[in-house]
Amino acid sequence: MTTQRISLEVTGIAALLRRDFAYSLALFLLGVAALTACLLTREPTLAPSPPGYFLFFLLYGLFTIAMGYEHPRIGYVSFDRVAQVASILVLGPVDAAWIAGLASLLFPVTRLARGVPLISVLTAALHNAGLMALMVLACGTLYVRIGGPAPLGWIDAASVLPLVLLLFSMQAFNDFGMRVMISIRDRSLLKDVSFFAFLVESSAGLGGILMAIVINRMEPQTIVLLIAVMSLGMLALTQFARLRMQLEALVDERTRKLSEKSRELQRLATHDPLTGLFNRRFADDYLDERIEEFKRYQRGFSIALVDLDHFKRINDDFSHDTGDQVLHLISALLSDRCRETDMVARYGGEEFLLCFPGTDVATARDLCEELRVSMESMDWGMIAPGAVVTFSAGVASIRPGMTRRALLSEADVRLYEAKFSGRNRVVPHSLAGRYR
Ligand code: GH3
Ligand code: MG
Ligand code: MG
Repeated sequence: MTTQRISLEVTGIAALLRRDFAYSLALFLLGVAALTACLLTREPTLAPSPPGYFLFFLLYGLFTIAMGYEHPRIGYVSFDRVAQVASILVLGPVDAAWIAGLASLLFPVTRLARGVPLISVLTAALHNAGLMALMVLACGTLYVRIGGPAPLGWIDAASVLPLVLLLFSMQAFNDFGMRVMISIRDRSLLKDVSFFAFLVESSAGLGGILMAIVINRMEPQTIVLLIAVMSLGMLALTQFARLRMQLEALVDERTRKLSEKSRELQRLATHDPLTGLFNRRFADDYLDERIEEFKRYQRGFSIALVDLDHFKRINDDFSHDTGDQVLHLISALLSDRCRETDMVARYGGEEFLLCFPGTDVATARDLCEELRVSMESMDWGMIAPGAVVTFSAGVASIRPGMTRRALLSEADVRLYEAKFSGRNRVVPHSLAGRYR
């Protein structure tokens, strides 16, 4: 049967560790107290344990815990329920609880060799020992009290219901205990369910019943054969589960890398790598969409073609690298100063296209004028000491029947005018033609 054990790899901050350690210690002490009380009062009546069975179930319990795998979301899944159920049905709940507790206490020690911190190993050992001992004791006692036979010789009408209840109550007890621990450790109640883990748990419970019947009724040869077959079965299932986990991890990793790559490609397709602004391809599509919107809803917009003045000089007077840095900072200034709803793209080398939806040509001109003043007064500090970078801009607004090409060429004509009339200025298309 399966137990989702505390993942020892979880270290967390010291405070968390202390909190889950204190809880684990309390659970452990509760388990020891409950078992001692049962032994002292001899309740419930114990079936006499044949010599050697205690040791056998302890070792087999350790083996079934080792036959497990770490599931990233649901914790450690193993076959420990086989030994727990079988020992309840062979030795009775009190002996079985001692054995389950001891096996769970000892098993985490193996993880010290893997470099897991001592405090984590101790927390897991105490928690698992306490939880398993209490689970086996409580569910086993319930089973005996409602008339379940221990030792179990055969399944008959009277034993079916107690057996079903035994398996279900163990599962519920274990799940509840693990959820409490997860909520204390991680402050969250999240715990995934896995159909495969559920199948492993159910088959482990039934395996435990079968094992108990064979131990209680059969010849030693049959017992040995059954144990060998079940052990090999567990081994095979565990290997399969581990392989499956590895494959899942591989697929997850590949999927993550692929989606990262496709996000990057998507960004590259629409953005300019130097400035991080939208690129020309995006800007053209964007304009087409705005033009469609204008045709349908008469929602106007304006554009500005912005070209840096004498930018070649920056490259010549400083360096191409400096030119790049200046372009980068100018892009930041443009996108910072424009509104959220505006679109800023690098349309060419040192040429930018701005789009102002819902804005007429006069307002667009004013916005560009503000940008021009900011740019002119920008201090280039250490990047290009003493440099003054200005731009010229041509502004145009959409009118009915206009194509993207026509709109851009209208802005371009105004840009040329701005350059021709001395640069460092914004020239709008005739204000008389602006849309309302
Ligand atoms: P004007 O527009 O005022 O007529 O003068 P200009 O010097 O800006 O003229 P032109 O458009 O002919 O030259 C643009 C220069 O911008 C040419 C090129 O060296 C520079 N440039 C274009 N793209 C980049 C870039 O990505 N990095 C750098 N550093 N320079 C670039
Ligand atoms: Mg230029
Ligand atoms: Mg240019």
